[in-house]
Amino acid sequence: MSIDFSTHTLPESIVDFHTMLVEGKTTITAVVKAYLGIIDLRNKDVNAYLEVFDDAITHAENCDAQLVGKSKAEIEALIRQHRLFGIPFAVKDNIVSAGKKASAASKVLENYVASYDATVMTKLREAGAICLGRVNMDEFAMGGSTENSAYGVTHNPLNLEYVPGGTSGGSAAAVAMNGCLFALGSDTGGSIRQPAAYCGVVGLKPTYGSVSRHGLIAMASSFDVVAPATKNIEDAELIFDVIRGRDPLDSTSHETKGFNITETLPHTGLKVGVPREFIFTDGVSEEVKKSIEETIENLKGKGVEVVDISIPLLKKALAMYYILVPAEVSSNMARFDGVRYGQKVEGADLLGDYMNTRGQLLGKEVRKRIMLGTYILSAGYHDAYYRKANILREQLTADIKQAFSKVDAILTPTAPDTAFKIGEKAGDSVSLYLADIFTVTANLAGIPAISVPAKTQTASGLPLGIQFMSNTDREDVLFALGKMIY
Ligand code: GLN
Repeated sequence: MSIDFSTHTLPESIVDFHTMLVEGKTTITAVVKAYLGIIDLRNKDVNAYLEVFDDAITHAENCDAQLVGKSKAEIEALIRQHRLFGIPFAVKDNIVSAGKKASAASKVLENYVASYDATVMTKLREAGAICLGRVNMDEFAMGGSTENSAYGVTHNPLNLEYVPGGTSGGSAAAVAMNGCLFALGSDTGGSIRQPAAYCGVVGLKPTYGSVSRHGLIAMASSFDVVAPATKNIEDAELIFDVIRGRDPLDSTSHETKGFNITETLPHTGLKVGVPREFIFTDGVSEEVKKSIEETIENLKGKGVEVVDISIPLLKKALAMYYILVPAEVSSNMARFDGVRYGQKVEGADLLGDYMNTRGQLLGKEVRKRIMLGTYILSAGYHDAYYRKANILREQLTADIKQAFSKVDAILTPTAPDTAFKIGEKAGDSVSLYLADIFTVTANLAGIPAISVPAKTQTASGLPLGIQFMSNTDREDVLFALGKMIY
């Protein structure tokens, strides 16, 4: 497929695309074809997409057909009603769509075709968005580099020798390589924010329960949330507004109060807290520290008050996370036993079936977490590990809430360094887990967080991410701060 960039330049944002449409400068089919052309060109190197949907062009043509004979005002009205009209996006392989495969990048679900739509997919379709395909991830969203996929590693489109981050590495890479305008991912401990940071895009982890999990293949149910990767803050804001809301199919979901995209909140006098003792430590690169100092200066210049805060328990967040998450993982993964879902490898008897199926069709990291979680939840260890970690999770959440009585947001880096080379941390779980040090807190406390590309230049030329966390259902604060520094 040849790409003709001269006639239809790719849009920079959703609003940009809609403006181009209203002014008759492009068609949805032309833009979708341009994205498909880029995917054709780049995906063999990047491996972001696992599958490109063959109905994308038909959907685009149907959208264009709706515009025929309409005046500018009528097109504008249509876009007000369908706020993502014609917007091409990619979906992480752990979010289901009726009639489409969703494998969670695992062999065990290799041929699984979903029979229903995830609520987020229904909402995006109703808003007019067009799904171009499903994208790669770490198997069942466990990892931090998209090296744990059963379908090959995804490469960072900014430098192919490097990881794109994970576990939504396919989502961030698809956006960064211009293979779609936005992508859906999921975030259990940083899986949208860390790849967003490594690929130089925006990643939003919404408040736990503000977006329905119905149709998201579960990893750790009290942590998981569907999360978008976008080219800018405005797009993240719009997509969040479309996908959020209480869903009767997810009893942990709730209506977001106090968030109204049409109201421009004043957001003057914002106060940001910096947990210095947590950031300025040995494991964090000098470039990352510099990016925080520069961000602080930048924020001050915009009238934001920046103060030091101290939350000693932040240092224990990673330990809590890597006890509680495997425990929930082991419980959620029990259903992949070769009987109820997906593939099966027969054994001599029932136990043999289980052992062959789980031993051969689940990857190493997934098996490791099942074993770890089963151990943590077993009699005798439950009280020593699981219960203690849960108590600490409550304490950390209380400490964070306490901090939000004094500041509107907490500033940290997204990750301790830029992306690392493919293979560099393979076989070294601890060093990979350490890359999650700044992101897991938001999931432990259920609060929202955003990763925004830092302005700081790095020696390698790879991007860095700045993270803001805010109080429950205060995504508006994240968007306001993100816009200030981006
Ligand atoms: N890297 C973290 C983990 O492996 C986060 C994963 C996620 O957010 N899905 O658990």
